[in-house]
Amino acid sequence: MKIGIIGTGYVGLPTGVGLAELGNEVFCIDNDVSKIETLQSGKPTIFEDGLDEMLLSNIRSGRLKFTTSMREGVENADVVILAVGTPPHPITKEADMCYIHAAAEELAPYLQGYTVIATKSTVPVGTGDEVEKIIRSRNPRADFDVVSLPEFLREGFAVHDFFNPDRIVIGANSAKATNLLKELYKPFEGKTEILFVRRRSSETIKYASNAFLAMKIHYINEMANFCEKAGADIYEVAKGMGLDNRIGGRFLNPGPGYGGSCFPKDTNAMAYMGRQYGVELTLIEAAIRGNDARKTEMANRVLEVIKTIPDAKVAVLGLAFKNGTDDCRESPAMQIVAELLKHNVQLKVYDIKAMENAAKILGNKVEYATSITDAVDGADVLVILTEWPEFKKINLEEVKELMNTPNIVDLRNLLSSEEAKKLGFSYQCIGQ
Ligand code: NAD
Repeated sequence: MKIGIIGTGYVGLPTGVGLAELGNEVFCIDNDVSKIETLQSGKPTIFEDGLDEMLLSNIRSGRLKFTTSMREGVENADVVILAVGTPPHPITKEADMCYIHAAAEELAPYLQGYTVIATKSTVPVGTGDEVEKIIRSRNPRADFDVVSLPEFLREGFAVHDFFNPDRIVIGANSAKATNLLKELYKPFEGKTEILFVRRRSSETIKYASNAFLAMKIHYINEMANFCEKAGADIYEVAKGMGLDNRIGGRFLNPGPGYGGSCFPKDTNAMAYMGRQYGVELTLIEAAIRGNDARKTEMANRVLEVIKTIPDAKVAVLGLAFKNGTDDCRESPAMQIVAELLKHNVQLKVYDIKAMENAAKILGNKVEYATSITDAVDGADVLVILTEWPEFKKINLEEVKELMNTPNIVDLRNLLSSEEAKKLGFSYQCIGQ
């Protein structure tokens, strides 16, 4: 099949590479010229495990092309996938639909023959109807259907998740569109559940799923707070809870709060939709408020440690919103850093993959370390904010030698509290 993907970011790129690997002819379209030039030269624009080789091999085979031309990517396509951003509106926090609307306007004139327009971006319920109207008004003779095709990939595992999804959800209101997408997803038949639902149900599934996962994280964080006061251990509690199949063991890791480009924005967008429809979504609203406050609470733990140290220097390990990615969007680490900067704390920061993205946001407000040891050299507190496996392996004896004062605030519970305490660190973690 010929596939056009509009938007070549964290979703569009792995999806394009994956669909090409399955044998389709894929055009990844983006209006960011430098992004497209980089990709045309075979270099990935995001960090994702396994993406580099697959990108190169599919470019070489001629199945994968990158273009800024809507005409080239959309003309004669069987399926056009919308994978542009739907960021939060700065005031209302509803999903900002300007990129979706613009993409629908721009693609409409180039449709030829029957085409399925599949919305992979996370979009408010009813967007399928809107996209349909925009395309119809721009190109009244076009033969097309709009379907909802929500994306569930996890950043850091995008390539793995493309080939091994937990489920594929297709929200189509027409049999013709359903049949075409059945054909596209044939390689997954028998391997994963392919769920066909109404378009509006599919749009809702994405938000309902992300809001649920965000609430699960917030729940375990609240339980961690409880354990700290009650003398319990959150890991023992989480293990005991997770063994119940109705609860499940995943997403029960306490931390500094949920973040990333999806959970904060999608919970806010879902809450906004609830208010629009006059439906009380009290659990989601509470999770949003609690999770926002958590970042300040976490920063306060660091401020508490340094309050008696004049000119304290803080080493920050981790800036990405989680390990395995260079993405800093809505990263709890970045928000905690921002909170500490409000208090004029001197910070030296280090991340395994996200230094470049973080520097775009933090500019010259912090010092940038070149390694873990460079970060902790002369520091009074070591704060761990992202769960990179590399940080788990740090040599605490060496770190103690390098630090000015041996304090650790481990907001990802990566280190061994026993070892840290044995070596004479003052060590704080979460939920224990
Ligand atoms: P992104 O910002 O990384 O990528 C979006 C891309 O779209 C950018 O490269 C931008 O230049 C391009 N673009 C915008 N308007 C365009 C236009 N008119 N024509 C061509 N290109 C255009 O965003 P993302 O993280 O890939 O997210 C995309 C959507 O997928 C969002 O709705 C998001 O909520 C959803 N989603 C994201 C993830 C994730 O893990 N990042 C997971 C599931 C769903």
